[in-house]
Amino acid sequence: AKGEAKGTWQRYQSDLHTAMVQRLETRAALHEAIDNEQFAVMYQPIVDLGSAETVGMEALVRWQHPTRGLLGPYHFIEAAEESGAIVEIGRWVLCEALREIARMHAAEPDTTLRYVSVNVSARQFRTPGFVDQVREALADSGADPQWLLLEITESLLLRDADQVRNDLGELRALGVRIAIDDFGTGYSSLSYLRQMPVDVLKVDKSFIDDILGSEQQRALVDAIVTLARNLDLAVVAEGIEDEGQRAELIAMGCPYGQGYLFSKPVWPHEIAAGRRSSEEA
Ligand code: C2E
Ligand code: CA
Ligand code: CA
Ligand code: CA
Repeated sequence: AKGEAKGTWQRYQSDLHTAMVQRLETRAALHEAIDNEQFAVMYQPIVDLGSAETVGMEALVRWQHPTRGLLGPYHFIEAAEESGAIVEIGRWVLCEALREIARMHAAEPDTTLRYVSVNVSARQFRTPGFVDQVREALADSGADPQWLLLEITESLLLRDADQVRNDLGELRALGVRIAIDDFGTGYSSLSYLRQMPVDVLKVDKSFIDDILGSEQQRALVDAIVTLARNLDLAVVAEGIEDEGQRAELIAMGCPYGQGYLFSKPVWPHEIAAGRRSSEEA
């Protein structure tokens, strides 16, 4: 039994070692990928549910891995969060997304595509100087702050709420809008919604998936849409895959959505947006 225990201990040590080596390898690979400009950004249109007109787009990072091909965030975001590489990657995505929206507005000033939505990890947000980073990225790209929506998660609002509220307020003062991503999946209380300077709620796909099949899911989404309306927030429903879901969301009064029904994430030149008519402009 003694030998067995020792074996277990050694196995444990060796597992720890392997995990550590893998983490170090991934960390090195991610930093190399940053240096070698292996990241790319795809964009998924956000549409007006009634007209299906594109009103915005979400920036979604990809890793053009030299041997493994085009990798989605599932393959590397967790490692990037753990190693801290997410701070650099996120900064790059923000700059790239702002350059892209500035290019689009320069090419078509009357575009219906008014903003780009950028995911910000909690770790990136909490890095000292984040607000200055945003300010610089806006200045460098020449993008209007109104063209930027930052997506944060509920969990960010739980710790150091005063600091977070303060930073969000500074971003808002710049003219940048704030969305809560994956709304409803976190553990936060609803009271922060009144206290935090937030503009948009994004309803997580897991709530949308079964709105036709489950009366409970439908009621939940309906409640979120009503809550948002009463708090004067915009709502975006995520992961809409069929016309039935779209119709249901319109019936609830949900104004915006994104999902495969309208478009998967695509490269910037594949984004199709309309032009505002002269009466609107
Ligand atoms: P998210 O922010 O919730 O983004 C939506 C995800 O759902 C995207 O996956 C998108 O491709 C996918 N999606 C959109 N519509 C549909 C649909 O109709 N059906 C299905 N099945 N999926 C749909 P993606 O691009 O793989 O990104 C996964 C997650 O990675 C994102 O979830 C976000 O949390 C994270 N992420 C992506 N880019 C960044 C980034 O630049 N920074 C950070 N911190 N996180 C990022
Ligand atoms: Ca998002
Ligand atoms: Ca989301
Ligand atoms: Ca989601």
